[in-house]
Amino acid sequence: MSVEKLQFQAETKRLLDLVVNSIYTNKEIFLRELISNASDALDKLRIESLTNSELAADEEPEIFIIPDEKTKTITISDNGIGMTRDEVIANIGTIAKSGTKDFLDKLREASGAAAQELIGQFGVGFYSAFIVADKVELITRKAGTDSGVKWTSDGLGEYEIEDCDKDSHGTIIILHLKKDFCGDDEYNFTDAYEIERLVKKYSDFVRYPIKMNFEVKGKPDEEPSIEIRTVNSMKPLWTRNKSEITREEYDEFFKQQVHEWEAPLEVFHVKAEGTVEYTALLCIPKHAANNLYYSDYEAGLQLYSRHVFIMDKCKDFLPDYLRFVKGLVDSPDLPLNISREILQQSVEVKVIGKALEKNIQKQLGKMLKDDREKYEEFWTQFGKSLKIGVYNAMFDEKLKDALKDLLLFQTSHEGKFSTLAEYVERMPESQKKIYVAPGKDAAAIEQLPQMELLRERGLEVIYLTDPVDEFTVQVLKSYAEKEFQSITREDFELDDAESQKVKAEVEEIAKSHEDLLKDVKEAIGEPVKEVRLTSRLKSGAVCLVTGEGGPSLSMEKTFAAMNNPLFKATQILELNPNHALFKKLESLHELGKDAPEFKDLCTTLYSLALLIEGVMPNNPAELANKITDMLTK
Ligand code: ADP
Repeated sequence: MSVEKLQFQAETKRLLDLVVNSIYTNKEIFLRELISNASDALDKLRIESLTNSELAADEEPEIFIIPDEKTKTITISDNGIGMTRDEVIANIGTIAKSGTKDFLDKLREASGAAAQELIGQFGVGFYSAFIVADKVELITRKAGTDSGVKWTSDGLGEYEIEDCDKDSHGTIIILHLKKDFCGDDEYNFTDAYEIERLVKKYSDFVRYPIKMNFEVKGKPDEEPSIEIRTVNSMKPLWTRNKSEITREEYDEFFKQQVHEWEAPLEVFHVKAEGTVEYTALLCIPKHAANNLYYSDYEAGLQLYSRHVFIMDKCKDFLPDYLRFVKGLVDSPDLPLNISREILQQSVEVKVIGKALEKNIQKQLGKMLKDDREKYEEFWTQFGKSLKIGVYNAMFDEKLKDALKDLLLFQTSHEGKFSTLAEYVERMPESQKKIYVAPGKDAAAIEQLPQMELLRERGLEVIYLTDPVDEFTVQVLKSYAEKEFQSITREDFELDDAESQKVKAEVEEIAKSHEDLLKDVKEAIGEPVKEVRLTSRLKSGAVCLVTGEGGPSLSMEKTFAAMNNPLFKATQILELNPNHALFKKLESLHELGKDAPEFKDLCTTLYSLALLIEGVMPNNPAELANKITDMLTK
């Protein structure tokens, strides 16, 4: 096939633009990325050759790096699995990660340090080559096939792809370095010693030899000879003694091993020698992956047996609510040729998984106690996972118990994060229930008319701002024997004497206004189940509450977003009998229940109640017209 010119996928192009216009401050990381890809390719070949004897290793796996001053290039090659033409196009020309577009949009709005941080979280893998190179050639041959392909690009929008000869399987990547990186300036990536230093710094524990040529000077009249040396120690970090490993080494390890782009938030290094022997090296990343809650996010740990890599993304160790934990497990009690199916049944895996889960829960509890700031950082990134965990533990009391004290919620108490225990601790003795309120964010909840009374009584409210929060609280039902009570549910009432007095007064008014309430309900029709008077409002005229059981309004929204429009909240419209609008309603009612003025006010009040809840009324234009009319009158 002749040379084919292809365009990068639009998102790839945008990402490449960013890379080329180098917003990365660390120019060295390209090497780690390419070595890491090479090491993955060697893993893949070894795994495939277990089941396909034709691929059985004909040579020792290795990664070779050749910096070349004369051609101003650096070449990184591996004898791993290689790629077919289609794979090159799919892997190198496109970005398959969901959330990429969101990420790029967010990035466009960010600038300076914020942009740096964002891009750091994303990681661009192979494209990092364009940080230092203005032209990249990739020559590859898939193991088991007999010809190669060559891919060339300047990273500007197009790439060329053509068939070519290649002696054996594997991938060669040649970076034509930009002139800043050839020694004129701060960097010299054509210098063998400089590259050796970088390999040691970033890739020392790569489990395959990384080899390089070094010139050895002979006697003055002799030509220098070339010596090939392995520059990495290849000693797996996790086999070393914990006390001898620095935090920097752990950080580099995770960047190399699980493609983290920044130092993790927390590292766990666990060795166990009980019924099952294992070592685990795990981390909680600093930031949640863009696609953490998308179906294409691949959770799971790497699995090793006696330091030999067996498989990646092994999901059987950790429960789904810990999907953000990354790292590896190395156990001599697991056979080398274990398949995914057998793994699922493995007792050893279950034992290890349970122990790791407990350990992580314990460490999180400790972080919450000892380093609140760090825990809140963790919570902001991964709290949602734990909350989903509680929801999914509907019938698992033990797990709910283990997780409930790890939950944080924003509350009306100084707007800060609070644990449930802290909330309960602050409750006045007379308060029997834990008050919660759903809403888009703290500001929206604070504006809820129902909040006014609670504020006045000095009662603290937990803000449920994430759609999952309400579900979590519903599953928990209570904490420290105190039930959760939503202030937007029909059964909410305050039990102090003052509130009970107002309630009795309102009930009196309701009795003498039964007809009015019936007619308001009729004017609004289907959407509301009931219209009634309330004592929960102070200066607000109306509010919408939902029936005791079933979904709330915000849960209804969540269901609708998940294409489950059948789960509907039961809506109850509540009117404040002490508000001027109520007097107005009474006087318009005297015109008759079919009077357009009366009906308009009824439907407008309902629309306003919807708006307060953050729900768009069915016909916003009609509402706008009515309000305009009323304002002009
Ligand atoms: P990531 O490594 O995070 O998947 P990259 O952009 O670094 O992202 O690489 C994209 C894909 O290209 C890899 O997943 C792999 O399939 C393929 N690839 C990259 N480098 C190599 C290599 N040296 N040998 C074989 N395949 C490779």
